Amino acid sequence: RQYVFAFEEGDGKNKMLLGGKGANLCEMTRIGLNVPPGFVISTEACLAYLGHNRLPEHLMDEVRRHMAAVEKKTGKVFGDTENPLLVSVRSGSAMSMPGMMDTILNLGLNERTLQGLIRLTGNPRFAYDAYRRFIQLYGKIALGVADEHFDKAMEALKQRVGAAQDVNLTAEQLKELADQFAAIVQRETGSPFPEDPYQQLEIAIGAVFRSWNGKRAVDYRRQFKITKEMANGTAVNIVAMVFGNMGNDSGTGVGFTRNPGTGENITYGEYLVNAQGEDVVAGIRTPKPIAEMATEMPELHRQLIELRDRLEAHYREVQDFEFTIERGTLYCLQTRNGKMNARATVVTSVEMANSGLLSRDEALLRVNPQLLEQLMVPQLAPTGHHEALAQGLPASPGAASGKIVFDADTAEARGNAGERIILVREETKPEDIHGFFAAQGILTSRGGKTSHAAVVARGMGKPCVSGCAAIVIDHHARRACIGGVGLAEGDVITIDGSTGNVYAGQIPTKEPEFFPELTRLLTWADDVARLKVRANADTPAAAAKARKYGARGIGLTRTERMFNDSDRIPIVQEMILADTLVKRQAALDRLLPIQRADFHAIFREMSGLPVTVRLLDPPLHEFLPGEKQLQFDLDRLRASGNPAELARHEAMLERVRQLAEVNPMLGHRGVRLGLTNPEIYSMQIRAILEAAAECVKEGVPVEPEIMVPQVAAVEELARVKKQVEKIHREVEAATGVTVDYHFGTMMEVVRACLRAEDMASLAEFFSFGTNDLTQATFSFSREDAENKFLPFYVEQGLLPENPFEALDIKGVGRLMTMAVEWGRAARPELQVGICGEHGGHPESIALCHRIGLDYVSCSTPRVPIARLAAAQIRL
Ligand code: PEP
Ligand code: MG
Repeated sequence: RQYVFAFEEGDGKNKMLLGGKGANLCEMTRIGLNVPPGFVISTEACLAYLGHNRLPEHLMDEVRRHMAAVEKKTGKVFGDTENPLLVSVRSGSAMSMPGMMDTILNLGLNERTLQGLIRLTGNPRFAYDAYRRFIQLYGKIALGVADEHFDKAMEALKQRVGAAQDVNLTAEQLKELADQFAAIVQRETGSPFPEDPYQQLEIAIGAVFRSWNGKRAVDYRRQFKITKEMANGTAVNIVAMVFGNMGNDSGTGVGFTRNPGTGENITYGEYLVNAQGEDVVAGIRTPKPIAEMATEMPELHRQLIELRDRLEAHYREVQDFEFTIERGTLYCLQTRNGKMNARATVVTSVEMANSGLLSRDEALLRVNPQLLEQLMVPQLAPTGHHEALAQGLPASPGAASGKIVFDADTAEARGNAGERIILVREETKPEDIHGFFAAQGILTSRGGKTSHAAVVARGMGKPCVSGCAAIVIDHHARRACIGGVGLAEGDVITIDGSTGNVYAGQIPTKEPEFFPELTRLLTWADDVARLKVRANADTPAAAAKARKYGARGIGLTRTERMFNDSDRIPIVQEMILADTLVKRQAALDRLLPIQRADFHAIFREMSGLPVTVRLLDPPLHEFLPGEKQLQFDLDRLRASGNPAELARHEAMLERVRQLAEVNPMLGHRGVRLGLTNPEIYSMQIRAILEAAAECVKEGVPVEPEIMVPQVAAVEELARVKKQVEKIHREVEAATGVTVDYHFGTMMEVVRACLRAEDMASLAEFFSFGTNDLTQATFSFSREDAENKFLPFYVEQGLLPENPFEALDIKGVGRLMTMAVEWGRAARPELQVGICGEHGGHPESIALCHRIGLDYVSCSTPRVPIARLAAAQIRL
């Protein structure tokens, strides 16, 4: 079996075998880009290593043969004292996992090859710098020596010689540092630093393979749901070193073929003259924008633009590439598809389609629907004037407020406890990843827009401000000085990742606006999709927003949400507390005009589009205070002695006790409540139809749909239908206008699905309430399951996913499939939709498409996601 592939021979499409980075190095070599010579050791070798705990037999022979080829191409010799070849050893799996696994640079250096490097370059400072970096990286990654030992030695040296930055250290001082580093390795591992280059190489390959199962990598894969089918093992890329720190005609940088924050069509990125790549990534020195290269190094800038054009023309996708300039020659070290935020993904995809680089269908497929959720990132909406404390780089857009926390562990602990956190650090490292998950936003004092913090935050869609030099952190005191203002851990700040501003205190945020490219993309999506997308909206404002987001109707108005508004809850309570029908009717009569006005406003907002109004669903006790609260209030009232209030609360308590049920969600609610208390539904039906009649009079086109919740038997539906028809006749007679409406049922009870043909004999439409239907199908309480056993179930593989999030295709999906089939058999023109949370979940939407639903209805912010997902299943 062949485990090792030269860049010239590897299949640039086979990322599973060669890893993303390796495949791209092969691909770039094949299309003639200037890539340093090298080869890839496959992921199969990694799996063999992890399986047997040793490198496959003959692997090192293969490696030696390929090293010989690299020696030939570079004219350098591995381990040679005169003209030494040095290599980097880089990990890379099929899925990009930035910074999650390990990379070793300058491998092949030892006391002898070092002398060759000095002679060759005439630059002892550079050579010693490379050497001490190598010992540190190798010591940490291959030999497991903690970084802090090296960092301490470095800090001590800088203090002693009065150097502010690493670059201020002289060759002599770096030599001394290298010796100290070697001594640290000897002290910590009990053996001298390995001098033999092939021994170095062999140990390093094993270490990179092992990093696949390191905690960081495992956590990352779990978080981003990277399965074995998506990436299995890491490849190892061995690449001849080129040096960006060989003087002022050398440099290094990272680039994006377009701006990954905005999508703007310009080469974007940063570079440093006379530096190694890790200086940029680790944020140790703050680099310059690539635009400056045009004046500083015009010829190289031209080459860089050429490189960028060739990358995009070939990959037809925004690329994130690393380059190094060694004495005036530009090398491309790696490229991968650029991780962009949602906005940039949409903008670049639409622009690429407009310019003919992609088809519209390709553009639609390129955007992950879930990513659009990021576009709902909040933006600052200051009520007064706020002076920024400091400004850093706008590294990942969106605004967030939270309490300052200085380390990832504390962020995780406090974040999990429900606090809103901003992680504030000098720079971040991959081991801080758990802090990112827990934080609302990230703020760093060092590092550019392509630093670790920036890249990871963008990938997660979290706001990040990086390189904010006006921050001084005192870890000991757990305090920071930001722009001259002293703040302690736990103090609240606000960051704006779109501008780079940092503010003291909390500033309100607002929802973002649609931008033209998104509107365009979603219009293309609507052209392709068969499924229509509606929104769940309960208020006129939500309806207006739904319309703006492109909803083609409202699939669910939960009328109980209207009951809960502060101006009507007292009337609702009065209705519930009424001890005679007359009193109850009096309360309902007061509610009628309020509900009618609600519906009227919603119908007007949605003019010309269907609006499904669901009759009251929750049990009545939900509109009364809890028993504990009432007891508390009663104690207070008894003391203060307001007799009327006291009496009212006593009545409430009695009623609450009467209404109490062991299983309220399976109890007196939905249509069961409607049938036992028909006056409530009558009021609601009347309010809907009268509001529709008003619209008709005003010339506003309306399509009201009346929907009954919790139906289990067709007899229930028959009774409500009769009630609707009677009120409809009355309303038409009273108003003198014709009001068209549709009558339908929710499908959220298992029996309703099993009797779908009966239901369809009366219902013109079905709407699957998959929240309750999932609860009923699994017998899992939707209120408790997610906090109790479901995480365990998913972790243990007892269920593939949380069924309240992702529609359970095998069970609930089968029930739906049957219900649709039986329903349509009874009524071929039956309209079928879904209004549970799953209506905004892309894979669930795909199922809805497959089983022939007419529409999905989801919460308003998810409407764009659903529109795109509905298109993607047709492509
Ligand atoms: C459902 O059960 O899926 C539904 C939409 O209704 P609710 O969430 O209001 O119970
Ligand atoms: Mg329900």
